[in-house]
Amino acid sequence: MSVPLLDLKAQWAQIGDEVMAAMQPTLDTAGYILGPPVKQLEEEIAAYCSSEHAVGCASGSDALILALLALGVGPGDEVILPSFTFFATTGAVSRIGATPLFADNDPRNFNILPGEIARLATPRTKACIPVHLFGQACDMDTIMAECRVRGIAVIEDAAQSIGAQYKGRRIGDTGGDIVTLSFYPTKNLGCMGDGGMCVTGDAALAERMRILRNHGMQPKYHHPYIGMNSRLDSLQAAALNVKMKYLEGWHEARRQNAADYDAKLAGVAGVTIPYIEPQCQSIYNQYTIRVAGGKRNALAAGFRERGIGFEIYYPVPCHLQECYSSLGMKPGSLPHSEACAKDVISLPIYPELSSAQRDEVVAAIKEILAA
Ligand SMILES: *Cc1c(COP(=O)(O)O)cnc(C)c1O
Repeated sequence: MSVPLLDLKAQWAQIGDEVMAAMQPTLDTAGYILGPPVKQLEEEIAAYCSSEHAVGCASGSDALILALLALGVGPGDEVILPSFTFFATTGAVSRIGATPLFADNDPRNFNILPGEIARLATPRTKACIPVHLFGQACDMDTIMAECRVRGIAVIEDAAQSIGAQYKGRRIGDTGGDIVTLSFYPTKNLGCMGDGGMCVTGDAALAERMRILRNHGMQPKYHHPYIGMNSRLDSLQAAALNVKMKYLEGWHEARRQNAADYDAKLAGVAGVTIPYIEPQCQSIYNQYTIRVAGGKRNALAAGFRERGIGFEIYYPVPCHLQECYSSLGMKPGSLPHSEACAKDVISLPIYPELSSAQRDEVVAAIKEILAA
């Protein structure tokens, strides 16, 4: 039996008819861009995130760029962010002409170490982007306190963590100025292409992002800002409106899969199961283990032989990417990020994963690591 990392066809079998029906009005009316389904989705996501406003856009990467632009971050400004994240987080910072300041991460929960903010901040630091990695929220109260005393704006990158909870609050009610979401198909709430959203409790920021996503245009053919074309399609929003009804159930199925892995992997020598902070509830966008003793790559090779899906999120921390060589950061400068990049591996965790498939993954891990 092969076990894919993610099986979107299984999800389609469950909801395909409903999604097709939900798309029909958009096709009938040809209201393809920013139509009624987009407005409905914005309202539902704002409410789901316990926030006020949501602005749909073309991707999670664009959501980060829109958030930075709305906050007035630009050339000459610095932005603190974790090095151990998907490249989009830092790519957005560099794309708008600001400078990333890379922080190290907690080796247990993989998220930014809040103490790094004090170490890295300078008078030019305008924003911080904590990334809620793999489905678990960062220590937001500490991060907000560190940023507020320094006048640093906070953008929460929740591309992997819509609906994750911190101290009983959903991300969106966690203090940041803007929360960014991605609807890339591998996220817990994925569309059928690219899509993203910015969530905020600040009406003025929401209005600015609404204008910025449409060429900075307000009113028509008048441009107070230089914006971009980053709008959400009505068809994608229609699909997402259907999926919203299933989202909590899918999160819960992932948590049950995770609990099963936790129990079965707990005693396996050399494997560190994901650590979820007691104040957090993860949505397990990824179930990421650490493998000791330099055996991660052997495990990956063994999975490949057996047809078991996996991914290495992420093999190179951002501060050591080739495109940032001019920053002059040397190996050893962010030890936790570098260690994580060497020993993490993510296992199949999608909601439809069967118990037989989980058992196969666990058996393979034991067999490969014992060899
Ligand atoms: C997926 C992801 C993004 C980018 O989202 P896209 O919709 O693919 O542009 C940004 N940050 C993180 C942490 C992500 O995982």
